[in-house]
Amino acid sequence: MNEVCRLSLKQLRDAVKRRSLSFKEIAEAYLERIDEAEHHLRAFVTVADESVVDQAADLDDRLARGDLRLGYLTGLPIGVKDNIVTKDVRTTCGSRILDNWVPPYDATVVRKLKANEALLFGKTNCDEFAMGSSTENSAHYPTRNPWDLDRVPGGSSGGSGSAVAARLVPAALGSDTGGSIRQPAAFCGVVGLKPTYGRISRYGLVAFGSSLDQIGPLANTVRDAAVMLQVLAGRDQADSTSANSPVDNYLSQIGKDVHGLRVGVPAEWMGSGLDREVKTAVQDALKVLESLGCCIEEVLLPHTSYAVATYYIIAPAEASANLARYDGVKYGYRSSQKDTLAQMYENSRTEGFGDEVKRRIMIGTYVLSSGYYDAYYLKASKVRTLIRQDYLKAFERVDLIVGPTTPTLPFQLGEKTSDPLAMYLSDVFTVTANLAGVPALSMPCSFTADKLPVGLQLIGPHFKEGRLLRVAHALESELQLNRPPLAL
Ligand code: GLN
Repeated sequence: MNEVCRLSLKQLRDAVKRRSLSFKEIAEAYLERIDEAEHHLRAFVTVADESVVDQAADLDDRLARGDLRLGYLTGLPIGVKDNIVTKDVRTTCGSRILDNWVPPYDATVVRKLKANEALLFGKTNCDEFAMGSSTENSAHYPTRNPWDLDRVPGGSSGGSGSAVAARLVPAALGSDTGGSIRQPAAFCGVVGLKPTYGRISRYGLVAFGSSLDQIGPLANTVRDAAVMLQVLAGRDQADSTSANSPVDNYLSQIGKDVHGLRVGVPAEWMGSGLDREVKTAVQDALKVLESLGCCIEEVLLPHTSYAVATYYIIAPAEASANLARYDGVKYGYRSSQKDTLAQMYENSRTEGFGDEVKRRIMIGTYVLSSGYYDAYYLKASKVRTLIRQDYLKAFERVDLIVGPTTPTLPFQLGEKTSDPLAMYLSDVFTVTANLAGVPALSMPCSFTADKLPVGLQLIGPHFKEGRLLRVAHALESELQLNRPPLAL
C-alpha cells in the first residue's frame, strides 16, 4: 500500500499545506489502493473514475494560484453510504428497487462535503435500505471485513467501515438507525460516531426509521471523526428535525484532559451474553480511563432487556410507512408483469425488495394495524420513553457511559443469515442510543489474538458529542493501539 493511504485526514491536509503532497498525488494513491483491494472487499457500489484526478489537479492549480481556501476536507477522498443521495451519481440503497436511480439533487451532507471541496470517491455498499447488521442484505453483493475476509464488516454501513479500515478512503459517511455506524466501526476497527438525533441534517438520507435515523462519520482516528462532525453538523432549513442548538467547537476538545470525569458502566451490559474477549478488552479500556483520572462507577439501564424488542417494533413500523413510496411509479424498478395497476404495484415490490425488507414491511404493517396498534406500537413507544429515562437518570450521576459496542466479535459470512433473530441480537447495545436520541461513538480498544478488532462504545447526554470526542481521543492516545496487518 502506498504510504499516503496510511495518513489521517489531518496528516493529509498538513502535507498539502507544507506542499509535500499534491491533491493529485493523493487522489492517485487512493485510486491505486482501490484498484488493489476493492475486488476482494467489495466495499463500493459505485466507485470514482479517473475524473477525480482531474478534479484534484484542478485544486492543485487553484492552490498554486492562491485561489483556494484550504478547508478541513479540501481535496480529500470521502466515501458516502449508498443510501445518501448524490446528484447525478447512482444511489441504490443496496436495493434492486433503486438499482437505476440517479438522484437529481445532493443530500445536505453531500452539499457540505462539496462546499469543502472534498472529493466524492464513491458510494459505499450497505444492507438494503440500511436494514441489517452484516451488509449481507445488499442486493449487490456482501462486503468483506479487511482484517479477515471470511468475516462480515458489520452493517448496515459495512461498505464505509470496510473502505475506511482498508484505507480505500480516509473517511466516509454512514447512517445509524440502530447501530449501523457503530457496529461496523467496531467490526472494522475504526471510529464511528452517531451524533445526537437532529445534530446533522438528514435531508437526502433515504428514510428508514425517521425517529431514529442519523448520519455520521466513520474515520481512522478520533480527531478525523471530529473534523467530519465539525463540517457536517448544524441546523438545515430542509430538515425540520435538525436541531437549532449551536454547533460546538469539537476540535477544541481534542487533547483536553479527562481528569475527574465520571464514567458509568451499565451493569446490564457486562453480564452473560457478552463474548469473553470483548468483555476483557472493555474492562482493560476502563482501567486505562481510570489511570487517566476518570472515576468509574456502575450505573443501571434497567430496561436494556426490552431494547431489541422495542426497536424491532418501532423501526419496522416506520420503515413500512417510509417504504410505501416505492411503487414502481415515481422512481426505481417497475415490473414488466403489469396488466393492471394493482398488479404493477404488487409485482414491482415483490421483485424489487429483498427478503429482509419484506419481513420488516410485514412486521411494521402488522404492528401498526388497527386492533394491534395499542398492543405493539403504542406499547413499544411507552417502553421507548422508559429507555430514554434510564439514560437521563444515569446522566444525573455520570458524565458519560462506556461499554461494549457489540456483544460479539465480527462473525463469519453466512453465520447469521438464516437466523434473523440472532442477527437482531447483535444490536442489543446500540439500539438504545437511537431510541433515546443520545450521541454514541465506537472506537477500537483492542485486537484479539486472532487479529479481530474490539469496539468500545461511549455514550453521552444529548448534544455532548464534544465530551465523547474528548474522552475517546484521550483513550486513543493512551492506548496507542498496535494494529495487526490487514488481510490485503
Ligand atoms: N441492524 C439494525 C437493523 O437492522 C440497525 C440498522 C441501522 O442502524 N440502519 O435495523
